[in-house]
Amino acid sequence: MKKLSWFLVLVFAMAMFLAACGGGGGDSGSSEESEDAASNEGWVENITLLTGGEAGVYFPLGVALADVIDANVDGVTATGVSSGASVSNAEQLNNGEAQLALVQNDIAYYGAEGMNMFEETLDNYGGVFTIYNETIQLVTLADSGIESVADLEGKRVAIGDVGSGTEANATQILEAHGLSVDDINAQALDFADASTNLQDGNVDAAFVTAGTPTGAIQELSASADVRIVSLDQDAIDSLMEEYTYYVQEDIPSDAYDNFDSTATTVAVQAMLIASNDIPEDQMQEITSAIFDNLDEIANAHVRGEELSVDTAQDGMSIDLHPGAAAYYDEQ
Ligand code: GLU
Repeated sequence: MKKLSWFLVLVFAMAMFLAACGGGGGDSGSSEESEDAASNEGWVENITLLTGGEAGVYFPLGVALADVIDANVDGVTATGVSSGASVSNAEQLNNGEAQLALVQNDIAYYGAEGMNMFEETLDNYGGVFTIYNETIQLVTLADSGIESVADLEGKRVAIGDVGSGTEANATQILEAHGLSVDDINAQALDFADASTNLQDGNVDAAFVTAGTPTGAIQELSASADVRIVSLDQDAIDSLMEEYTYYVQEDIPSDAYDNFDSTATTVAVQAMLIASNDIPEDQMQEITSAIFDNLDEIANAHVRGEELSVDTAQDGMSIDLHPGAAAYYDEQ
């Protein structure tokens, strides 16, 4: 009797040991599992994913992306955090303060080239995928009397958070219409504050570069009649000629409640960038985890539905991270 129970204990212990050895790789094949265990060396264990303000689209999407990574990549903890958005995201990623970030494709390019707002070349990140169009929405209340960009002269205008891509787009759009930031009373506000201040009458208009519907505008339009101001066609043409990543876009009248006309404007694209501090094999696995869990990204915001391997490199403005490139090569 005694011998038998010891034998059973031994068998049980061996079974547990084998299960522990084989269990680390999730649902991947057994030969890959031993490779995974060896290759985890040098991986970045704690990943910070930079998004934007909480009333934008980056925030819900970025939190979902981080959750997918956290749940599906062994030994990695990932967290999505709010931030000032594109320009500061690119800088922080390059400085090693974060490992992944959502940014605009125009801003990622300026950073990689050391152009415009960037004083030096940011050479420590690569592209992972592009996702959806970020529409430059010039929002005002329907009764503000602002019907064109020219009408912004002398007005209080929110131009995005400090370090946002929105701020860069606002500057370029004003210039394409013959104005500069000095011709308006510019206010650096994130989308949520811009929306509240519009509603309270403290600002007259706000630039918002984000996927539609943008939370901050949705909230405003639930309680006030809003107008999205069209850009002049000449200015759109010159913007597209001067800055490669702008495309023309029409905002449909059903984009928001209380918005009953269409508007013509420009858009750039949202993309994910990754620090080169993430080793290639780890980034390949992260990319794979994301594309294996597209439902969760789509559930976070309707724009997340546009993430797809087939279009992931459309509008890609910088070199791919080697791990993302390795993932696409295998498809
Ligand atoms: N594209 C915006 C920016 O970089 C942020 C958009 C968002 O938060 O959804 O300024």
